[in-house]
Amino acid sequence: MAYVIAEPCIGTKDTACVDACPVDCIHPKKDSEKYATEEMLYIDPVECIDCGACVPVCPVAAIFTLEDLPEKWQHFAEINASYAVGGKFQQDKFQKRVAQGAHVEQEVAPR
Ligand code: SF4
Ligand code: SF4
Repeated sequence: MAYVIAEPCIGTKDTACVDACPVDCIHPKKDSEKYATEEMLYIDPVECIDCGACVPVCPVAAIFTLEDLPEKWQHFAEINASYAVGGKFQQDKFQKRVAQGAHVEQEVAPR
């Protein structure tokens, strides 16, 4: 199922959730060079263990389960997943998808 970070993170990006996550599946981290260029953080749905630890620490209530993700932010599920396809960052692909519009198709990694 995986948790999803949605629009309220944009502009906040304080990484409180990163510190709370026991499996280190929220990216990019502050020490990553990608942190400066991303407008928000993303949860890797493959690595997320659905523990919910990130939810209460978020100051802007940006994190939802897939089931509770508001309709207007449904596309953030795909955006989160696209950021780390197969558990590995594919920044080029991610940028391309965003450029193509919010409603990107989630690919199955062919590897
Ligand atoms: S639900 Fe748990 S595992 Fe998933 S991103 Fe949040 S803290 Fe990490
Ligand atoms: S705690 Fe909330 S606002 Fe802060 S980085 Fe995580 S999702 Fe974004």
